[in-house]
Amino acid sequence: MILTSDYHTHTVYSHGKGSILDNARSAQEVGLKEIGISDHGFSHPAFGLRANKVPKMKEECKLATEQTGVKVLMGIESNLIGTDGKVDLKPSRYDDFDVFLVGFHKFVLFKPKTIFSLFIPDLFHTYIGKPAKWVIKENTKAFVNAIKNNPIDVITHLNYYCFADVSEVAKVATDYGTYIELNAKKTHFTDQEIDALLKTDVRFVINSDAHAPKRVGEISLVEKLVERTNFPLDRIDNIDGRLPKMRFKAFKERG
Ligand SMILES: [Zn+2]
Ligand SMILES: [Zn+2]
Repeated sequence: MILTSDYHTHTVYSHGKGSILDNARSAQEVGLKEIGISDHGFSHPAFGLRANKVPKMKEECKLATEQTGVKVLMGIESNLIGTDGKVDLKPSRYDDFDVFLVGFHKFVLFKPKTIFSLFIPDLFHTYIGKPAKWVIKENTKAFVNAIKNNPIDVITHLNYYCFADVSEVAKVATDYGTYIELNAKKTHFTDQEIDALLKTDVRFVINSDAHAPKRVGEISLVEKLVERTNFPLDRIDNIDGRLPKMRFKAFKERG
């Protein structure tokens, strides 16, 4: 299994350690065709992207592409902020981005109601044990609505600190052409959840979630998972020379 591209990499513009060019250089060294710079969405209080930095980032992506030959895409790891499926990338900003990732993150500025339905119960159940059914139901609703209402390319680290019914999320993701990420920074699916996901027709991408340039393209955690679960490689769209069909790009081209 050889990684073709890596859409989830952080830089100093959120809480990564390197520059956009550093990430691109690392990608070039490991032979990737393209990468996404996917710093945290605007509503993350400590690490969120600052809107006034976006033009400079886009320029740096362009220069890094020219200097390395790796296609460097301007992405975002937007935050899920409401059970109604609200995320913190608004259509008015779509022109600034090439890749649209969405994930659940602790400590973002949730909508008032959501702090009680998503954030606190998830935090509680993460430390106490298996989440209650109603929590899973609310989380599932949030992801399902997010996929339905936004042209999301990839859901990042599903079931990491925020437990949803993965089959339900995967079914909607399949219908709308959104990928489910296999994240190489953290273990976020049990083997049973992988089984459940594979019973749907959803498609996957592998991402490093690198917070340091040297980790760009580093996916050994997922390689182990693939081996252990006998994961069918033809379900993964960014390996062995293949590039994924991104929903956000297609959405923008349709106008
Ligand atoms: Zn994340
Ligand atoms: Zn991330």
